[in-house]
Amino acid sequence: QRVSVVVVGAGPAGLTIGNILRRAGIDCVVLETETREFIEQRPRAGVIEEWAVRALEERGLAENLLREAQRHTACEFRFDGRQHRFSYSELTGRNHYIYPQTLLVTDLVREYADVRGGDVRFGVRDVQVHGIDTDQPSVSYTCPQSGQHQVIHCDFVAGCDGARGVTRRALPADRFPVARHDYGIGWLALLAEAPASSDCVLLGIHQDGFAGQMPRSPEVTRYYLQCPPGDDPENWSHERVWAELRRRLAVDGAPELVEGRLIEKRMLDMHDYVVEPMASGRLFLAGDAAHLVAPIAAKGMNLALHDAFLLGDALVAHLTQEADSDSSGLESYSEACLRRVWDYQEFSQWLSEVYHGAATGEPFRTGTTLARLRRLFSSPVAAAAFAEQYLGTAERY
Ligand code: FAD
Repeated sequence: QRVSVVVVGAGPAGLTIGNILRRAGIDCVVLETETREFIEQRPRAGVIEEWAVRALEERGLAENLLREAQRHTACEFRFDGRQHRFSYSELTGRNHYIYPQTLLVTDLVREYADVRGGDVRFGVRDVQVHGIDTDQPSVSYTCPQSGQHQVIHCDFVAGCDGARGVTRRALPADRFPVARHDYGIGWLALLAEAPASSDCVLLGIHQDGFAGQMPRSPEVTRYYLQCPPGDDPENWSHERVWAELRRRLAVDGAPELVEGRLIEKRMLDMHDYVVEPMASGRLFLAGDAAHLVAPIAAKGMNLALHDAFLLGDALVAHLTQEADSDSSGLESYSEACLRRVWDYQEFSQWLSEVYHGAATGEPFRTGTTLARLRRLFSSPVAAAAFAEQYLGTAERY
């Protein structure tokens, strides 16, 4: 079989690229190791930046999102025993959109496969990429139904298979170093079957560790609790989780947290990485396959979407020009993505110190953490800079 593009991975990045290609009438195949039901129910992100919503809308991919998503205009820091509401929309005129990743992925699969007639193969095994530095790359896999080995020849491979995928490993390590950063911190990531106690994200800065509340839908709320890296989720009973959330998010006069069944409880060892450059020959990485950013500032899915818009558009420009094909977008792809990637990594690191500095027990870091927080509420210039980074700039880098 031969197609123009093989997309490896049906997450937000791969499905967005698939949709952009199908809309332009380009033949492609999306390969995914999991089932459709699994990817539609895998809970992760929930915050989409306004520039990304607009970019999805321009590509005909935001109809449900625009109808269903909550618009957030503020977040609330809790420190010094008090609530400190930060109204970022007043400063920027832009919002955060709260739309669970499960719903976005469900919309993107439906649009790609059921509306635009795209080819997606679920449950594939043994995916391997071949010949990326030739002009005849291919991707092989084992078909789940027949057990047969299949090869798809193509012009380009989009590696969108996330943090644990195979496409990144096709890049030789000596020419594609991976820059890593480890925070030395764990987060217990929780999903509760309960409404949020506030209309916005809550960020609790506490000497015993960070606690966060992120509304996801009227019925489901995400919580995070800082804990030692490598801690066992089984150490965190229902009672201990709720007691700790209440304690770390406690402030005078705020509504009580609404307790509910915990439907997800997993440990995240907080780390980041960036592969640079993000492309070699005919292989282009996008999303978590190329860079991971710990969920401190809710940036990962936004970066995955940013890559997908740039790569999808660049592939369309290259593949639809009959003569004199336009390859400028492909040539500048890695550099253009990495500017936003490094900007978001830096902001996440900065914000990590705000969230975690006071829990180190070091008086000096507690002092500087509180200075950062007070600056946000006393300096209009600092507040505007924070709001821009928190929402992600709408400008092209
Ligand atoms: P993925 O979503 O990981 O998709 C990759 C796909 O490839 C998967 O479907 C996988 O099954 C498939 N795959 C893997 N290996 C192979 C293979 N060998 N062959 C074929 N397919 C393969 N980001 C935000 O922006 N905002 C948030 O609020 C936020 N919250 C988060 C909370 C948590 C708890 C976590 C874990 C992450 C969060 N993120 C957030 C990050 C966000 O979920 C990821 O950055 C995003 O899913 C990346 O999309 P992707 O398409 O690059 O990769």
